[in-house]
Amino acid sequence: MNKIEQTLSIIKPDAVERNLTDEIKNFFINNKLKIKDSKKIHVTKDEAAEFYRVHQTKPFYNDLCSYLSSGPIVVMILEGDNAILLNRKLMGATDPKNAEENTIRKKYGISIDKNSVHGSDSIDNAKKEIKFFFKN
Ligand code: UDP
Ligand code: MG
Repeated sequence: MNKIEQTLSIIKPDAVERNLTDEIKNFFINNKLKIKDSKKIHVTKDEAAEFYRVHQTKPFYNDLCSYLSSGPIVVMILEGDNAILLNRKLMGATDPKNAEENTIRKKYGISIDKNSVHGSDSIDNAKKEIKFFFKN
């Protein structure tokens, strides 16, 4: 069944810094995700804190917000059939140590915090997260 969705993807500072942006973009394109919009930005710690608010009670929250705001990131709207789940599959497990072969985090992730990409995890969050970075 066809279910065209949009999802938010972020190429995190560790991957932008290592010039992996084009490689990661091509990986999405070659796996049936269209890049509908893309921009390179540098968020403040306050913006990162707002973006990751769902994690505010987690022990890693402060470090996560510092990290996302530590350097340029690339935010993208990806579109395709089942885009939310497909993107999560292409990303791989949160901890690169546990990520499946031929996933972004397996190939490029450094550690559980420097895991190269973010992807929305539900339709609701995809909508919220796209709106957060692309306020049309
Ligand atoms: N994270 C971390 N330590 C942990 C769990 C998560 O630093 O023990 C970071 C990691 O960068 C992850 C982000 O917090 O990508 C959000 O966590 P989530 O559980 O939502 O993982 P994701 O959806 O990114 O796979
Ligand atoms: Mg998540």
